[in-house]
Amino acid sequence: MKALDELTFDNRFARLGDAFSTHVLPEPLDAPRLVVASEAAMALLDLDPAVAETPVFAELFGGHKLWAEAEPRAMVYSGHQFGGYTPQLGDGRGLLLGEVYNQAGEHWDLHLKGAGMTPYSRMGDGRAVLRSSIREFLASEALHALGIPSSRALCVIGSDTPVWREKQERGAMVLRLAHSHIRFGHFEYFYYTKKPEQQAQLAEHVLNLHYPECREQPEPYLAMFREIVERNAEMIAKWQAYGFCHGVMNTDNMSILGITFDFGPFAFLDDFDAHFICNHSDHEGRYSFSNQVPIGQWNLSALAQALTPFISVDALKEALGLYLPLYQAHYLDLMRRRLGLTTAEDDDQALVERLLKLMQNSGVDYTLLFRRLGDEPAALAVTRLRDDFVDLAGFDAWAERYTARVARDGEYTEEQRRARMHAVNPLYILRNYLAQNAIIAAESGDYSEVRRLHEVLSKPFEEQAGMEQYAQRPPDWGKHLEISCSS
Ligand code: AMP
Ligand code: MG
Repeated sequence: MKALDELTFDNRFARLGDAFSTHVLPEPLDAPRLVVASEAAMALLDLDPAVAETPVFAELFGGHKLWAEAEPRAMVYSGHQFGGYTPQLGDGRGLLLGEVYNQAGEHWDLHLKGAGMTPYSRMGDGRAVLRSSIREFLASEALHALGIPSSRALCVIGSDTPVWREKQERGAMVLRLAHSHIRFGHFEYFYYTKKPEQQAQLAEHVLNLHYPECREQPEPYLAMFREIVERNAEMIAKWQAYGFCHGVMNTDNMSILGITFDFGPFAFLDDFDAHFICNHSDHEGRYSFSNQVPIGQWNLSALAQALTPFISVDALKEALGLYLPLYQAHYLDLMRRRLGLTTAEDDDQALVERLLKLMQNSGVDYTLLFRRLGDEPAALAVTRLRDDFVDLAGFDAWAERYTARVARDGEYTEEQRRARMHAVNPLYILRNYLAQNAIIAAESGDYSEVRRLHEVLSKPFEEQAGMEQYAQRPPDWGKHLEISCSS
């Protein structure tokens, strides 16, 4: 276990030089204080969890202090936002403080979001508010606990610094961890600004540090792109299987590592709704729940375009062609497991689709349905779930098909079925209204709710005593919360 001053830095991205990032110092927050820290994320840096409570922790992650070995940099990138190309974006309010490596030899970027103005702030103030920082913190750690690849969050630091959004709020910072903060938009930036040398340098950097196994392949860059396609297909399959809606799948928010990244107006589905749009500025539904699948491919094509200097168009197209079949295979595999099935049959896809249709028509809670389906043997579970559906004949037909399918799947005890299903079907999910309750309390200075919610969501598959209130459908006020995009 390490103390805060024992972290070891190795700032590989900073060494790429000034064409890639600009040196900027964090702008401190007034009266920085710990809102919440993730013990699991601290362990990634070998940090003793007790250090989160020390004043120096809030000073470091509230922008007041810096390690001598840190090299805070604002990265430059661009990206396609809602389908249109924006030639220059970049870290407008976040800084890569440095890269730390742990005892296991893993490197982790320390990225401080809300750290003040940078050359890439455009019209923004460089700040993040408490509300959005708590949301990013909870989401990163909750996705990770569900087994969905994501950037991680070490802590949220709150403050007295006023920040204007629709109303006056308080500034905060969230310390984000990832093996890299390189986005699709980094490659697009050097491609569209016609800087082939830097683009090649960036590609080498990513290949060497993040896809070293691709070096062994006959065409290393192509192998790397293929791997990126595969990781995205798998990540998005998990989003769809667990009802996660990202909300702003711009290419500047897509990680080169295939992890969930840059949390804004995201949401987990309460009632199943394929057409759900969590970002209320997304009038066309470009990033609606079901559109995430084709958008994943669209984003990969934008990356492919930026890689044309290194890889032939035909090879890129072929690799892009892997996306949908891989997505479908991962998705179906997960949904089979969510249904408690251990074998594969041709009709399983239709079985899943039919259930989702019925849920859509009746407004059935996406998370709780699967959990309850695993509570009991299939035949009993479906009789108990029946009341949640409006189209009873439709549900009965599905239930009959499902119980027959379960019978063909194999013989196992009630206990085995429950254990297997509960291990993939969470009881607790980061519902918008739960986050909202925690935010309201935190805004009045009470951080206990954020901490409790984080704790509950760190073990989403395990029933936790006294936590029934976190496993409920939302109350009426919490059903269709408009989550502001301003953050
Ligand atoms: P996001 O919507 O958070 O992914 O941000 C898109 C772009 O706008 C990125 O370049 C951000 O750094 C920048 N940005 C967002 N909010 C602010 C802000 N308050 N101040 C400065 N830049 C910002
Ligand atoms: Mg972003």
